[in-house]
Amino acid sequence: MIFRQLFDSTSSTYTYLLAERMGGEALLIDPVLEHVDQYIKLISELDLKLVFALDTHIHADHVTGAGKLANSTGCFSAIGEQAQAECISMEFTDGELIKADNLAVRAIYTPGHTDDSYSFTMDDRVFTGDTLLIRGTGRTDFQNGDASAQYDSLFNKLLTLPEETLVYPAHDYEGRTVSSIFEEKHFNPRLQVGSRQEYIDQMNALELDPPRLIDVAVPANRRCGLKMAA
Ligand code: FE
Repeated sequence: MIFRQLFDSTSSTYTYLLAERMGGEALLIDPVLEHVDQYIKLISELDLKLVFALDTHIHADHVTGAGKLANSTGCFSAIGEQAQAECISMEFTDGELIKADNLAVRAIYTPGHTDDSYSFTMDDRVFTGDTLLIRGTGRTDFQNGDASAQYDSLFNKLLTLPEETLVYPAHDYEGRTVSSIFEEKHFNPRLQVGSRQEYIDQMNALELDPPRLIDVAVPANRRCGLKMAA
């Protein structure tokens, strides 16, 4: 398997490139607009054909590269059906299998950070978007965020995966690149709660500044990062 974890230092976003083999089909998770040329170069160096550019959710902190990638490579730009994106070429739903050759990721609806948040599971790993971060969880105070829904997504979905499952989040602000379900279950401070209400209270008590780019990024991402037609 080809697996690359790419990084945007401006927004601390991780983008993941996955393919079964060199010369085969590939997919990208959470591409960042400013790095589209770099992705295309890498994809061509590995002789890959990009078939999907997936977003885990409508991001508030960076502009997606999915629309530009779709225009440049002919790949599908895809996001969950709950996102109100105007421009996507494919919507996925809960449980849907998304394939690049024989490599498949399963879309799992994990709302809470936003109402359009998905994670993508594979046999040995899960891409958790902003639902589960390394030693943290995504904030739930904007974009129809909902701490109670996030509790379900975490405790009834992601944390039920095998403990050895590797966790690859959409961001890390301290340079951590990967974790596991075991580690997060035991050492993620946000997950050491005894009840749903305790989780909700904890999330509601966070006093966070709005993301720097929210007014730019959210409308732009509803257009897949593409400029409005004139
Ligand atoms: Fe986010």
